[in-house]
Amino acid sequence: MKLNVAYKEQFETRHIAPNEQDTESMLKIIGVASLAELIDQTVPKNIRLKKPMALPAAKSEYEYLNKLRQTASKNKVFKSYIGQGYYDVIVPAVIQRNILENPGWYTQYTPYQAEISQGRLQALLNFQTMVLDLTGMQIANASLLDEGTAAAEAMFMQYSLRKNAEAKSYFVSEEVFPQTIDILKTRAQPYGIKLIIGNHKTVALTDDLFGALVQYPAGHGEVYNYKAFADIAHQKNIKLTVVADLMSLALLTPPGEWGADIVVGTTQRFGIPMGFGGPHAAYFATKEEYKRSMPGRIIGVTIDKHENYALRMALQTREQHIRRDKATSNICTAQALLAIMAGMYATYHGAKGIKAIAERIHGLTVLLSTALAEFGYKQLNENYFDTLKYAVGDLTNPLHSESLNNEFNLNFDGEFITISLDETTRLHDIETIVKVFGKVKAKTLHDIDLESLAKNVESVIPTELQRTSSFLTHPVFNKHHSEHEMLRYIKSLEAKDLSLCHSMIALGSCTMKLNATTEMIPVTWPEFGGLHPFAPVHQTGGYMQIIAELNDWLSEITGFAAMSLQPNAGAQGEYAGLMVIRAYHQDRGDFNRNIALIPSSAHGTNPASAAMAGMKIIVTKCDEKGNIDVADLRAKAEEHSANLSCLMVTYPSTHGVFEESIIEICEIIHQHGGQVYMDGANMNAQVGLTSPASIGADVCHLNLHKTFCIPHGGGGPGMGPIGAAAHLVPYLPGHSVVDMGNEKSISAVSAAPWGSASILLISHAYIAMMGAKGLTNATKYAILNANYIKARLESHYPVLYAGANGHCAHEMILDCRSFKTFGIEVTDIAKRLMDYGFHAPTVSFPVAGTLMVEPTESEPKHELDRFCDAMIAIRNEIADVESGLSDKIDNPLKNAPHTVAVITDNDWDKPYTRQKAAFPLPYVALNKFWPSVGRVNDTYGDRTLICSCPPIEEYEFDVLV
Ligand SMILES: *Cc1c(COP(=O)(O)O)cnc(C)c1O
Repeated sequence: MKLNVAYKEQFETRHIAPNEQDTESMLKIIGVASLAELIDQTVPKNIRLKKPMALPAAKSEYEYLNKLRQTASKNKVFKSYIGQGYYDVIVPAVIQRNILENPGWYTQYTPYQAEISQGRLQALLNFQTMVLDLTGMQIANASLLDEGTAAAEAMFMQYSLRKNAEAKSYFVSEEVFPQTIDILKTRAQPYGIKLIIGNHKTVALTDDLFGALVQYPAGHGEVYNYKAFADIAHQKNIKLTVVADLMSLALLTPPGEWGADIVVGTTQRFGIPMGFGGPHAAYFATKEEYKRSMPGRIIGVTIDKHENYALRMALQTREQHIRRDKATSNICTAQALLAIMAGMYATYHGAKGIKAIAERIHGLTVLLSTALAEFGYKQLNENYFDTLKYAVGDLTNPLHSESLNNEFNLNFDGEFITISLDETTRLHDIETIVKVFGKVKAKTLHDIDLESLAKNVESVIPTELQRTSSFLTHPVFNKHHSEHEMLRYIKSLEAKDLSLCHSMIALGSCTMKLNATTEMIPVTWPEFGGLHPFAPVHQTGGYMQIIAELNDWLSEITGFAAMSLQPNAGAQGEYAGLMVIRAYHQDRGDFNRNIALIPSSAHGTNPASAAMAGMKIIVTKCDEKGNIDVADLRAKAEEHSANLSCLMVTYPSTHGVFEESIIEICEIIHQHGGQVYMDGANMNAQVGLTSPASIGADVCHLNLHKTFCIPHGGGGPGMGPIGAAAHLVPYLPGHSVVDMGNEKSISAVSAAPWGSASILLISHAYIAMMGAKGLTNATKYAILNANYIKARLESHYPVLYAGANGHCAHEMILDCRSFKTFGIEVTDIAKRLMDYGFHAPTVSFPVAGTLMVEPTESEPKHELDRFCDAMIAIRNEIADVESGLSDKIDNPLKNAPHTVAVITDNDWDKPYTRQKAAFPLPYVALNKFWPSVGRVNDTYGDRTLICSCPPIEEYEFDVLV
């Protein structure tokens, strides 16, 4: 027997599930002879790429990780004392392994289907409770993208709430981190908000101010007592936002106790690696009276159908998916997974543990200050928590090189040096710093008695700024301090949530594909987790290489000249792209171009982002086939020709078809001087077959957490980089701390220069292991799988919209509106799917009363069949209601989902069997997933809003803590 010693494993066959035989039979059922024929009939000829993408040859998983080890070694993990919003942490191992590295948590979707999401909803409620306790505020969300954007959201909320419409100025303390100020500038511009950047002690609080923002502790570490400032501001009707460091609040009087109206910041310090900038969850807390104006997701307590404790996302009518351009923010993907981790960090350590950590940080900082004082260094912060400030004049350069020789980074900011300590700092680190500061003055450790200094460390926080109130008093933060308790708590929550570990999640437009383990593994390597985003470039070679390669590859895939890897989500990419278009027009003197044409079928983030970019939105029509009504578009482009800024268009359309007229549509916009913004959420139907640039788009975001395999994390993280045609490249976002190389850059849209850099690794791995052929095949199989489902389901559910040859793209819309006439709503189908072990497809987007199904290439035929069988069985249940065989109200659909408690109740009184309720198809019994609550009551939850862990004694039913 001859042996093939050149055999090479192919990742492609792990990622794309259907095998040859299944492919054959699926093609037969669709009614085409080959995959090539299906693609030819589906993707219009005029937009097909002429040649394969130029990407490096596909690597096997083993090869990739070996190569990546080399790349990782080009990152030098120095001890970081840079601070500035990013601190080294100790991720509790039980959290790292069981949440961050656990697909049971990271492959979950955003918890829209509350009944199968109670675990993460509880974890996020814990997060909100932790934020409220530490800040001293009344209501918090879960979560925002980063500290800088959270500050910008606060400014915008204050702007929206201003009583005096003439008030257009906003005071920002000059001691706010520069990256935060940069983002405020970007956000202020389109609204004509004037930022008054100055000293809070001397600024005149005039009538034209609608708000103020200060940082606590301030940028260089000073802890100011802002009480008097807050009082004066309030007398003048000026609301105050405080950017606060959560760790410091364990020791400092919380802003809620001295007059803050809004408190925002990052929760990175609560056990989330720096990751060269992210991902980390930001928090946003405010007063109860502003709850309806709050940005982002809010988790609230409600009851289920059986009047048991249940959780859900509250007040959704504020959000972009309902309110569109009038929404309080464009947030869709946030940072759920990181918020969950931060909340768990608080759960694990409890108030006592967190206080001890904060005290050690503060104590070592005091010790360092005292020790350096013995060498004659004058520390400049009067009151501080973890950051010391020095002006060392001629010693700056020697300190710079000596610190690097000793492998640690200080923050050099003009004439000042700051040193920020963190959770990982120990006595021996203090020794090293002291040694270095001594050496440049020809002194040694022997010249001081560090040991006896260490024995006499006293807090330097003045009494009036010392925290006296308790926090994290709820039982959930006081029970799980042993690892077993913690492990079991994490697992008990995980068990309530359906993820990709259980079954396919066929969410149209959300592309829930495989998040391969090999793609995930490097995310927690210390060489990637331990880097500060402002670390000197000579230490970041590994990241620079990954970023450059990913930039090249994504440019090749999209056909654009370059990418910006800064935006932290698709919606933020939209905002960034529109701001780039705005800058381009303005640079050419076209200050009047501010109209955005948006088809009625657009995702809610499109109008919400356009509103953020200060654009005026004109909605254009779609025809009965779901295509953009070209005549209407042309008429509106003509009408607004002089002021046209752009079109926002999703391709293939949100209706799941490749519109034949897309090139013409782009041309119309260009003829009228507009730019085409493409929403790239549907890129999974394009890669390798066509591209945004070849179709005619000028700028486009990619959801790396959809097409490029970053997991959804239960509602984030994500990445929304934008690609731009050459004429827009000069305007791509810059950064105030790190030079991004573009002269005409718009100011930053994210706090970190490359957004959530550490998860870029996932997309990098995916592209490297798939190669051009694999990626193109992924697109083809995504289209195959979708058309297979369509073929199996279209005789049971009308499929809305199809292309010229009757095929859909990578997703399709199932019309459920006709069932309404006998009382069955699309929600009933969504909930009944849970009894069959499935997460519902996208409900009521882009058409109300429909389901949008997107299987992706990663699902095998077997799984598609299970889903189709469930959908067909449900259709039969619907037919029984229609024919009168089932009761109109008391039927399996209306009563869905069925919990264990309902099924095992001694008094089963339903007109159908328990078996039909819980095990409606034979396969369900093999792998039953039990919804943990009955159908949640939405109106109850919004009427009696509770957004923190309720005191246990107030509830007569059981709550898991
Ligand atoms: C997911 C999606 C978005 C928003 O992306 P996020 O990353 O969630 O902010 C925008 N448009 C479409 C069509 C989408 O499917």
